[in-house]
Amino acid sequence: MRKEVITIKSKMLHVNDLFPEGKLGFIAGPCAVESKQQIDETAAFLSGIGVKILRGGAFKPRTSPDSFQGLGVEGLKLMSDAAKRNGMLMVTEVMSMHELETVSEYADILQIGSRNCQNFSLLHEVGKLSKPVLLKRGFGNTIEEFYQASRHISAEGNQEIILVERGIRTFETSTRFTLDIAAIPILKKMVPYPILVDPSHPAGIRALVEPLALAAVAAGSHGLMIEVHPDPDHAKSDSLQQLTFQGFTDLRKRALSVAESLH
Ligand code: PEP
Ligand code: MN
Repeated sequence: MRKEVITIKSKMLHVNDLFPEGKLGFIAGPCAVESKQQIDETAAFLSGIGVKILRGGAFKPRTSPDSFQGLGVEGLKLMSDAAKRNGMLMVTEVMSMHELETVSEYADILQIGSRNCQNFSLLHEVGKLSKPVLLKRGFGNTIEEFYQASRHISAEGNQEIILVERGIRTFETSTRFTLDIAAIPILKKMVPYPILVDPSHPAGIRALVEPLALAAVAAGSHGLMIEVHPDPDHAKSDSLQQLTFQGFTDLRKRALSVAESLH
């Protein structure tokens, strides 16, 4: 029943049209939706420079229960309005099956976060939907485990999958996570899906986001998913790593020129 409602409401998006081979795509937006003004400003800025997919968490997986947990349904509404008004698609995280139906009503692309990469029952549920799924690598998962996780979605019929390398846990403490650059060419050989990189979460700090992003592009990433905030210093989550509008503009220009130099 749920599947039919969703299918009728949305026209199917194809991930390979969103991230065609040889063209660098961007997904950008705040870590979390915080207010109408914050998400409106961000969407207007991003669409103005040609970014087509807005990201932002409404249901946030936070390490501490004391941290900001997201605005929930209110966040979904604010983000959906901002995306629509600016002609953008929106991707947002679904953390559990309890929220799946609600998040699906608003999101164009469903994000499964790192902490749920091996939540097999959730993977099967999104596999039954006619809606693209952006799956982030579990920070404790091997490439093979990440690949097998994607098969739990495709096995149910949904082949519209985007895989995102976002760093893994290693002994290194200078970065928040260790970005696994080799995962990009390896995954590209394993699956026909777009392979994206999120340089924000492994970086942990603003200054490291751009070098990681450029390395990802050089290694053949189909696109980048980056956290951008109108006032990162006052962000309610991940304030140290979110880029300013200017920072994102500069990164994007350099990333596009690295992509260009590969042809
Ligand atoms: C996110 O992209 O919003 C996020 C929480 O990232 P991850 O699941 O990779 O930690
Ligand atoms: Mn974040």
